[in-house]
Amino acid sequence: MSSEKLRLGIDLGGTKIEIIALARDGRELLRRRIATPDEDYRAILEGVADLVAQAERELGARGSVGIGTPGSISRATGLLRGSNSVCLNGKPIKADFETVLGREVRISNDANCFALSEACDGAAKGADVVFGAILGTGVGGGIVVGGNVLVGPNGIAGEWGHNPLPWPTDDERPGPQCFCGHSGCIETFLSGPGLERDYFSATRRRLSSVDIVAKAEGGDAAAEQAMQRYEQRLARALAHMINILDPDTIVLGGGMSNVRRLYDAVPALWSEWVFSDRVDTSLVWNTHGDSSGVRGAAWLWPDAG
Ligand SMILES: [Zn+2]
Repeated sequence: MSSEKLRLGIDLGGTKIEIIALARDGRELLRRRIATPDEDYRAILEGVADLVAQAERELGARGSVGIGTPGSISRATGLLRGSNSVCLNGKPIKADFETVLGREVRISNDANCFALSEACDGAAKGADVVFGAILGTGVGGGIVVGGNVLVGPNGIAGEWGHNPLPWPTDDERPGPQCFCGHSGCIETFLSGPGLERDYFSATRRRLSSVDIVAKAEGGDAAAEQAMQRYEQRLARALAHMINILDPDTIVLGGGMSNVRRLYDAVPALWSEWVFSDRVDTSLVWNTHGDSSGVRGAAWLWPDAG
């Protein structure tokens, strides 16, 4: 059925459920949020159905529905896994949302939605191959090619955070222990907590990542050294990704993406590890910030409207 006049996006998170309605040109028509019903699967399904029904009533049109959520749907079983809303794990959420909404829905994880949002009408608009890298409390990522999320048979395309930090120096081996069971994962160095741990191990002082960045800006030598180590590690990790994917544009998201110096410092370093005589990949700050998840969910239906 091609009667959809709107793109509706749902960001289904552990604490809130947000809905956005986008017009065909990406204009935001409506946005609303509710608290996520506490570990009550049926109430979550109904909460989403109510948000969609209200939006459509208000806007007087039917929408396509895309849903972004942490975790991934197993292609083998159709069941969600790895969500921080534990009651969603092990549930056939796509089939169940399709039942309560009475239409086909598309579901992708939040990192993929971030990459898709920036590729469709954000900082990577017009780029063919986009790597969206999240540098937050964790490190994740998603890949968009030609306006579509690259999924892959395991549903993990772009998930670079638990690869090892490439070209490690002796003092980076084996690296910090990671929750995933390995040591020296990219996430243990490039997440916000990773920067804090690195600063602590050099100074024995505990500071938040925001304070480390501010201290470096103010000329503090130890903070500046931590930032330079961070930039050099990010350059190596992204060079490794460039050697595999060769993206046109890399967009950064998550809390560490707000560190403006990264966008000059990292491309000035990464050519040392990129296997090419020149690097034309651009590294850019995201446009939509915290809205990328819900916007990207709406863009899971690129041809709707
Ligand atoms: Zn790990």
